[in-house]
Amino acid sequence: MTAISQHLNAVRSRIEAAETRFGRAPGSVQLIAVSKTFPDSAIRAACDVGQTRFGESYLQEALPKIHALAGAGIEWHFIGPIQSNKTRDIAEYFDWVHSVDRLKIAQRLNDQRPEALAPLNICIQVNVSGEASKSGIAPSELETLARQIASLPHLKLRGLMAIPAPEDDFERQRVACAQLRIALEALQRAGFALDTLSMGMSDDLEAAIAEGATLVRVGSAIFGQRH
Ligand SMILES: *Cc1c(COP(=O)(O)O)cnc(C)c1O
Repeated sequence: MTAISQHLNAVRSRIEAAETRFGRAPGSVQLIAVSKTFPDSAIRAACDVGQTRFGESYLQEALPKIHALAGAGIEWHFIGPIQSNKTRDIAEYFDWVHSVDRLKIAQRLNDQRPEALAPLNICIQVNVSGEASKSGIAPSELETLARQIASLPHLKLRGLMAIPAPEDDFERQRVACAQLRIALEALQRAGFALDTLSMGMSDDLEAAIAEGATLVRVGSAIFGQRH
């Protein structure tokens, strides 16, 4: 077994244990392997042991990998900050975008999504209080943006994403994750059919699963430390 397959098995075990501990249905949490800064060979090693969803943050770095791995059956998730001059390639090469936080970007992704492809799956990034990055829309502006995105025909609004500030304490991790869950529930009550909470990374995936994560984005626990 390679180190990557061992690490992947360990992360899968953590996810299963958290599903059980927090009363989540088995298999209700999907794993995105965040492969930013790691080469094609690392992605292939994970593919070989059944990993199909991969996340990338930087378009320039992701495109050569996507080309090299064409035909491997990978579902690609864009999770990084989006500049408007990058939307055409993101709309063409990715299956999901987790980091949409303004209408202009959503409109460009919609207009540039190739007709032959299924609608692009979208999560709105929310700046839950204490979020480390400055990205993400304020919760108070979320419903307006959700309404605008839901009306775009080549996008499919799936849910919400957050990157809470790093925090060692489990209960405090949960508080940040709960804010995203509460925001999703508010949209669901307002009539949006959403099924996705993208939260939880190497150090807080248990707290995220406790609060309803459906997609966890895990990098270093699978591929090792980034340099
Ligand atoms: C890098 C990154 C991750 C993975 O972080 P780890 O701590 O390495 O698991 C998850 N989500 C986003 C948005 C990232 O940029």
